[in-house]
Amino acid sequence: MPLYEYYCESCNGVFEAIREMREASLAVPCPVCNRDGDRIMSSFNAFTFRDGYPRKIPDKGTYWHMGQEVKQRATRMKGWEHPELAKPKPKPRPTRGETRVQREKRLSEVRHSRYRDRWGIDKDGFPTVKTKAPEKERKVLPSS
Ligand SMILES: [Zn+2]
Repeated sequence: MPLYEYYCESCNGVFEAIREMREASLAVPCPVCNRDGDRIMSSFNAFTFRDGYPRKIPDKGTYWHMGQEVKQRATRMKGWEHPELAKPKPKPRPTRGETRVQREKRLSEVRHSRYRDRWGIDKDGFPTVKTKAPEKERKVLPSS
């Protein structure tokens, strides 16, 4: 006989029971309070509401926010963003000095690459364009 999951509303508990398949949808007395527990069709989708906030059962004390599990109820939200789910803050902007150094680095890089393009050399000063040895002309004899 298969194992089914049941949910007792009065003690907010989930319990399992082995039932005949044809009896699976019938209520099963809760092992804690002996009240009728209803079958949970899919434990993954089983939600209950508390404080007007959806909670998943079995109740782990967590809450759900926009389909994601969170530990605390959001008390202050920026729009729909839960503080626990908020994206990490972007990196602090570079200081003025750092920006200047970076810009100079980029500029010198550009200057060098222009120079290299002009003279056809790579970073190590070697020519980038391989000069091919001129092919020997084949003498084609007239077919007459
Ligand atoms: Zn119960």
